[in-house]
Amino acid sequence: MSNKNLTSWLEVAPASDFSIHNIPFGIYSDQGVNHHACSAIGDYVIDLYELAKHQLLSCDASVLEQLYLNDFISLGKTKTSALRVQLITLLTDPNSRLKNEEAIFNAVFKKQSAVKMLMPVRVGDYTDFYSSMDHATNVGTMFRDPANALLPNWKHLPVGYHGRSSSICVSGHSFFRPKGQQKPADSETPVFGPTKLLDIELETAFVIGKSTSLGDNVTTALADEYIFGMVLFNDWSARDIQTWEYVPLGPFLSKNFASTVSPWIVTLEALEPFRTKGYKQEPKVLPYLQYVGDRNLDIQLDVFIKPKGGEENKIITSNYKYMYWTMEQQLAHHTVNGCNINVGDLMASGTISGPQPHEYGSFLELTWRGTKPLKLNDGSERKFVNDFDTIIIRGHCEKDGMRVGFGECVATALPAK
Ligand code: CA
Repeated sequence: MSNKNLTSWLEVAPASDFSIHNIPFGIYSDQGVNHHACSAIGDYVIDLYELAKHQLLSCDASVLEQLYLNDFISLGKTKTSALRVQLITLLTDPNSRLKNEEAIFNAVFKKQSAVKMLMPVRVGDYTDFYSSMDHATNVGTMFRDPANALLPNWKHLPVGYHGRSSSICVSGHSFFRPKGQQKPADSETPVFGPTKLLDIELETAFVIGKSTSLGDNVTTALADEYIFGMVLFNDWSARDIQTWEYVPLGPFLSKNFASTVSPWIVTLEALEPFRTKGYKQEPKVLPYLQYVGDRNLDIQLDVFIKPKGGEENKIITSNYKYMYWTMEQQLAHHTVNGCNINVGDLMASGTISGPQPHEYGSFLELTWRGTKPLKLNDGSERKFVNDFDTIIIRGHCEKDGMRVGFGECVATALPAK
């Protein structure tokens, strides 16, 4: 259902991320509710458990009062898509009981500002890709050889690694600056201490919506059946720890101390109108990675830094359309060896950078390893993230008067513990 003429009887500000075209899924709590599945419209969350209890949603209410959405997602996309359409109908039909019965309205709608959003899924496994060509080129140029910035495999397969799910937190958290080994350029031996180069990675992630068994492969053509939706993702990184540890097996402690996700899962159905072309893939990829049509997505991504007690400074404007490898290709590659996937697994994009300097998705690139510090509104400078800095990622799609957004992905860095 992507009819651009849809209008809700509930007033939604034109700049709201949560238009009638979105209808994402999440989990909330407040003083009276431990954890209920919810959706969002305008400034409100919609309590799905209450809707089911009032026989307005064709779903077993017990699935909607759990700590995570995993069981809801496991109902299958046929069912969850139908429920989303049912919600849209309730919100557009001026004769719906939801609109006209005050007791139901009051039980179902709550101001977003008055609830706490929780982690939307229980993440079993988390994979992080490295799928932005501009990012990989920038990093390769800085750390290796500008003439051969991309390693020989990069355009043949979506490079990725297995991350750690235990430290993925929902937006609104804070975390301790990680400590670890670093090897200063002027030292023969490593030193130990808090990272001096705390960085962000502007990413998105997709949530697996259907499990497979060992030995199964998900083809690019069928991949969408296995992708429930997307979230914003900040893959916090410690660059000095990373530089010293990453050879030969890739990042470890430089990445697994914290990652931040936004609380709303925006469904693939809501994102469908915003499909667009990606970069041309040259050389041609192997048959199992080939796909048909425009499979990229036009999602504007903005990043802000807010020093303690200060104001927001916009530091990045990028776009998901700059991804070289699509989600379908990432999933096809991930499962081509028979690796099984489970509902709730998160697969992150890798840092999303565009070709222009203001589109670079990390401080590493924005400040070119600290050689070009950013100037903030308050006159201070940043080479990397300081203690008590808050980083905010926002993302949205907009086309033909339809706006579909992700809300916020926010986290604050605290001094080392
Ligand atoms: Ca990353």
